[in-house]
Amino acid sequence: MASRLARYRSKRDFRRTREPSGKPGGVAKSQALRFVVQKHAARRLHYDLRLELDGAFRSWAVTKGPSLDPAEKRLAVEVEDHPLEYGDFEGTIPAGEYGGGTVQLWDRGYWAPLPGTSAHEALKAGSLKFLLEGERLHGQWTLVRMKRDREAGKRNNWLLIKHRDRHARENGDALLKNDSSVASGRRMSQIAAGRGAR
Ligand code: MN
Repeated sequence: MASRLARYRSKRDFRRTREPSGKPGGVAKSQALRFVVQKHAARRLHYDLRLELDGAFRSWAVTKGPSLDPAEKRLAVEVEDHPLEYGDFEGTIPAGEYGGGTVQLWDRGYWAPLPGTSAHEALKAGSLKFLLEGERLHGQWTLVRMKRDREAGKRNNWLLIKHRDRHARENGDALLKNDSSVASGRRMSQIAAGRGAR
């Protein structure tokens, strides 16, 4: 476990950022696997998708955000695992620090690999089909690793794709117009101004 978060910790100075360091036992165990999506106004705006697995969050930076349109494949760059405490993080990472910028809890809930499949094997194989039950994202999704990257073995570029189900929409980006935190109700500008935190 400690080694899974080594990359996360090595990138951050916890005297400067208020992001969690991920101490063992920091988050109570839950029956279902949690997921969060954090809207992150770093150098470029993106949406971080985090799926709980084995006591930490596997994480992907989705450059344009998730789309409800199955025809829209969204680049999802796999990044370092994050501690489960990160699922409660909202605030501003100081400029100059890793990931400097404002973070908003844009969605949260539970996820599961499709029944009868193993998340570990699917991730290893580079094709994970899963279900989301969040406040904004629902239904079936797929993360598929791009072949090119599998072979190069460098950065792991994946595609996030909505499956055709009753939660799919033609106007796949309409949902992204929601600029309120599912945790605090705050807009990005309010979080950036440090107002209204609970
Ligand atoms: Mn990010």
